[in-house]
Amino acid sequence: MSCILLTGGSGYIGSHIASLLAREDKDFVIIDNFINSKKSVIKRLEDTSNKKINFVECDIRNTKKLIKILKEKKISAVIHLAAKKSVEESILNPLEYYDVNVSGTLSLLNAMKTVGVKNLVFSSSATIYGEPEYLPIDEEHPINAINPYGESKIIVENILSDLIKSDKEWSIVSLRYFNPIGAHFCGLLGDDPKNIKSANLLPVIIEVAQGKRECLKIFGNDYSTLDGTGIRDYIHIMDLASAHIKAFDFIKNAKGLYVFNLGTGKGVSVMELINCFEKVSKIKIPKIIVNRRLGDVGSCFANPSKAYELLNWRTKYSLEDMCQTAWNFSKTNKLIK
Ligand code: NAD
Ligand code: UDP
Repeated sequence: MSCILLTGGSGYIGSHIASLLAREDKDFVIIDNFINSKKSVIKRLEDTSNKKINFVECDIRNTKKLIKILKEKKISAVIHLAAKKSVEESILNPLEYYDVNVSGTLSLLNAMKTVGVKNLVFSSSATIYGEPEYLPIDEEHPINAINPYGESKIIVENILSDLIKSDKEWSIVSLRYFNPIGAHFCGLLGDDPKNIKSANLLPVIIEVAQGKRECLKIFGNDYSTLDGTGIRDYIHIMDLASAHIKAFDFIKNAKGLYVFNLGTGKGVSVMELINCFEKVSKIKIPKIIVNRRLGDVGSCFANPSKAYELLNWRTKYSLEDMCQTAWNFSKTNKLIK
C-alpha cells in the first residue's frame, strides 16, 4: 500500500487533513518540527480517529533525514504544508521566511527527486494575487506579491513550474487557499498556533468573545463594498481539507502542474462575519472602526470552478458552521489545556 508524507501535519490545516486521511484509512506519516504547533495535536488526532498516528519530528530543511523517511516509510506522494505563514512576521524577518518556505521546499523536492517520489500537493495562497484586478479571482489572474510571505509562495510555484518542464514524470497540484476558518466538528482540533497570536479576523473575534481583548478593531468601513467593510472568501477548514484528498486522487492520474483556487466563491464582509458569530455564540462583540490596515485589499474572493470541474470537489459547510465549530473549539481547547 502507498504511503503519504504530510509535512506540517500537526498545524492548523495539516491536522484537519490528517483527520480525513485517518478516516479514509489512508496510510500516512506526519512530519513537523513543532515550531508553530503542539505535540498534543498528535494525541488529539489519535483520540479523534481512534487510530495510531505515525509521526516523525523533522525539519523540512534536513534533506538527509527526509531522504531516510521517504525511503523507510515507502512514501509515494507528499502533501506539503510545512511553512511559516504570518505576513507581518515575513516583513520583519524575510530571510527566515525564504529559508523555511523556499529553501525548505527545495530541500523536500531534492529529497523527493533523490528517492524518485514525484507526486506532490503543495499549499499555496490567494495572497499571491495581490491587489485584485478583477473579481472573482480565477487561476489566470495576474500574480503580484505584496509581502515576503506571498513572494515565497510565488517562488515555490515558479520552481515547481520549472521542475515540471525538466521532468514530465512529476504530478504536482498547487492549491491556492483563500481564507480557511472554523474547526473540526469533534471540538478537539482547530486553529491553535504555538507562538504567534493570530491577527486574523475570526481568531480575534473569538478572543474578544472570551474577554481576552476589549473590543474588535474593524480595519476600515470605507471600502467600496455593500457595508464598507472588507470582503473575503472564508472557507470551512474541513472543506479545505477534503480538497487535499481530491487533489491526492487527482495526481494519481495526471502528470504535470495544476493550480487550483480553493474558496467558496462567495465574498463575506467583516460585518457579516461578526453578525454571524454573534448569532451562533449569542455573544455581542464590542467593536470600533479604525483606519484601514496597511496592505489590506478591499475585496478578495475566488472563482473556484476549476477545482469543481477537475477535482470534482464542492464546499459543503456554511458560514454558521465556520463560526460554530471555531467557537466550540475555543471552548474545549481552553478546558483541556
Ligand atoms: P500552521 O503554522 O498551523 O502549520 C504549519 C506547520 O508547519 C506547523 O505545525 C509548523 O510547526 C510546521 N513547520 C513550520 N516550519 C517547519 C519546518 N521548517 N519543518 C517542519 N515543520 C515546520 O499553518 P497552517 O495554517 O496550517 O498553514 C499550512 C500551510 O497552508 C502553509 O504552507 C501556509 O502557508 C498555507 N496557507 C495557510 C493559510 C491560512 O490562512 N491558514 C492560507 C493560505 C495558505
Ligand atoms: N480585520 C479586521 N479586524 C481584525 C482583523 C481583520 O477588521 O482585527 C479585517 C481585515 O481588514 C480584512 C478581513 O478582516 O478585511 C479579513 O482579515 P484576515 O486577516 O482574517 O484575512 P486576510 O486579510 O489576510 O485575507
